[in-house]
Amino acid sequence: MASNDGEIDAEQALQELLEKNAESIETMTLRIVFCNPIGGDPFSAAVVITQENLSALYDYPSQRTNLFKFKHVWDVEKLHKLINIKRRQDSDQDNCPKRIKREHECEAAAFRLLEAYLKDFAYHQKCLEKVLFGSNDVKESAASATMVLNTHLFGPLSDGNCIVDNHIARQEHCTCSCGCGKEIKSGNTGIGVYSTWHGFVDMIVKENLPVTISDMEEPSMDEDTTEDQDEGSEEMKKDTNTLCVHDKQKSVTSRLIAETITNAFAQVNTNDSLADLPIPAFGCAPRQISVYLYDCKNDVLLKKTLPLHLFKRKDSASAVVMIWLYMNFRLFMKRDVTDIKAHSDLSDFQAQFCSSDANIQEFYAKLRSGFTGCAHPDQPSLTSVVRTDEAFGVLIFYSLKDIKEQSWIQFLTN
Ligand SMILES: [Zn+2]
Repeated sequence: MASNDGEIDAEQALQELLEKNAESIETMTLRIVFCNPIGGDPFSAAVVITQENLSALYDYPSQRTNLFKFKHVWDVEKLHKLINIKRRQDSDQDNCPKRIKREHECEAAAFRLLEAYLKDFAYHQKCLEKVLFGSNDVKESAASATMVLNTHLFGPLSDGNCIVDNHIARQEHCTCSCGCGKEIKSGNTGIGVYSTWHGFVDMIVKENLPVTISDMEEPSMDEDTTEDQDEGSEEMKKDTNTLCVHDKQKSVTSRLIAETITNAFAQVNTNDSLADLPIPAFGCAPRQISVYLYDCKNDVLLKKTLPLHLFKRKDSASAVVMIWLYMNFRLFMKRDVTDIKAHSDLSDFQAQFCSSDANIQEFYAKLRSGFTGCAHPDQPSLTSVVRTDEAFGVLIFYSLKDIKEQSWIQFLTN
């Protein structure tokens, strides 16, 4: 797959992924047993306990989870078609029917970004490695990791449509942490309303995909988990070593799930065409990337069963293609993956988030993209009430002037 100078052929990488993965397990459902969405906690204080956490780590009754194969999540036929169109275009540049080009222009444009990225993958990989495995300072390394992942992964794969939280990229001309000199785009990455989970995620890709950086890797029991559950049998192995990292892992996972769910509502409330789709969110640790997804209409929470590895030689190209697929979920995901009407058996595996509190529907109907009710600290002129939220660690300014925020303000004063 790799040529002498480290270039990777995108068509071949996608083709191989389709051949190898079609029958393999892609995602699993997560069912929420306890969560604290109401009450105004920042994402960092979210607590989400899923049935799957409990089954893995405690003496808790195991329940079956629903597993989705790759071919059930992704439109494999469309992806094959894309490869074929691309090959025809390459071999017959002048005579390729314009109709086909137009019909699949969005898919083809997305594919061109994958091609360009994989061509330079060896370079990007070096830049990522240099920063992700470089610093020992946790706070410093989280900010550096965000910048390098922006510049050398999510940025190029989204045609630069990727902003870093401007609490992280504070300077006006902030550049990539690897030293390549590329300027970082920053902006307001807030999601949520103050009455529910809320906060600024580390990065927003393509305006709808949150990315969170942490130094926490998922425990390796993940692989055992898949096999055990695939057979639908034995209780998962309880590894006492994993208990040492359990609390931190639990907090990172809770934060990721809270962001995934909150973002899904915000996206669907602003854009009807996303309803019925599980909307992804990424969690990046130095050596792996995990993906959570939530379909708020059907109340189905999914997790990509195995995290992605960018630095394992045999896995790295397929990890990039997978990340690209999730980034382009609107184009390549099957429309009915989590549709309860289409798959009635799924109703046994709903997340039970919407039923976790009687007020959920009402509160979450208010969510929009952007931080409703809270202007960013960089725009103090828009604000007239200021409050310090110590748990959140930043000043939060409440806007009274913006008409769009009035429903929220009303809610605040009630
Ligand atoms: Zn760089």
